[in-house]
Amino acid sequence: MSSSNKPLIVLSRCLAGENVRYDGSNAYDPFVEKLLKYVDIIPVCPEVEIGLPVPRPKIIVVKENGYRVYQPETNRDLTQPLKDFSYRFLSSLPQIDGFLLKSKSPSCGFSGTKTYKTPEGKGYIGRRKGLFAMTVKEKFPYHPAADELMLKDFYKKYIFLTKLYLFFNYRTMENSQFVKKFEDILTLFSKKGTEKFKRNPIYQNFLRIFSRNIGEKWLNNKIPDFREKILTSPEYKKYIIFPEELINE
Ligand code: SF4
Repeated sequence: MSSSNKPLIVLSRCLAGENVRYDGSNAYDPFVEKLLKYVDIIPVCPEVEIGLPVPRPKIIVVKENGYRVYQPETNRDLTQPLKDFSYRFLSSLPQIDGFLLKSKSPSCGFSGTKTYKTPEGKGYIGRRKGLFAMTVKEKFPYHPAADELMLKDFYKKYIFLTKLYLFFNYRTMENSQFVKKFEDILTLFSKKGTEKFKRNPIYQNFLRIFSRNIGEKWLNNKIPDFREKILTSPEYKKYIIFPEELINE
C-alpha cells in the first residue's frame, strides 16, 4: 500500500475506478489515472465502510444543528455512523501527504455537495461539503486536499501537487536539505512562515507555512504570468517539483 519513495494520499475508491457508487458505477477520471503512476494510495469509501450496500438509495446532506446525513428513501439518519467512521479512519492514518476525494458526494465532496433543509430532501440551500470531507478539513487543515473537479483548474492543480510533493519531501528528507532544496517554493507560500521554520524546523512550523490559501491571483501577483512562465521558461522550472506530465494538459 505504501512505499517510501512516493507521496501517500487518501483516495476515494470510486475515483480509483472501483464500482462503489450508489448506482453501482465508478467515477473514472483521466487525471487520477495519470496520478496513480506516481503516488501510493490508501483507498476509502466511507459509505461502504459504514455498511451500506452497492447499489444503495442515495444519501443527502442536511443543515440541521450543524450538518447531518440522511437516507430519505429509508428514513435513516446516518450521521453518527459516518462521523464515527471518519474520526476513526482519520486517526488511524500513517503520516499522509494529501487527500483526493470525489466531488459533490454527501460523504467525500470537498465542493459541490447539494445540501437541503429537511431529511426528506426539501428546501435546497446550496452546495457545501460532504461529512467525511468536513472531518478531513477539521483534522488536516493544512494538507493538500482536493476533488477531481477542482483539479481541472490549472492553479488549483499546481497548488495541490506542489503541496503534495512538499509534504512528501518533508516526511522523507533531512530538514536542512529540505529548506535548501525548496526555499523558493516555501517562500512562495509564506516568507514569514519559512523564516520561522528555518529557525525552528518543527512540524507545526512547517504546517504554518500553508495557513494562507493561495490561488491564481496570489501566484500571478508574486510572478506575473505565472502559468506561462513555469510551463515555458527554463528559469522558472524550479517551481515545478512534481512530474511535469501531471500539469501538462
Ligand atoms: S464518493 Fe466517496 S462515498 Fe461515494 S462512492 Fe465514492 S468513495 Fe464511496
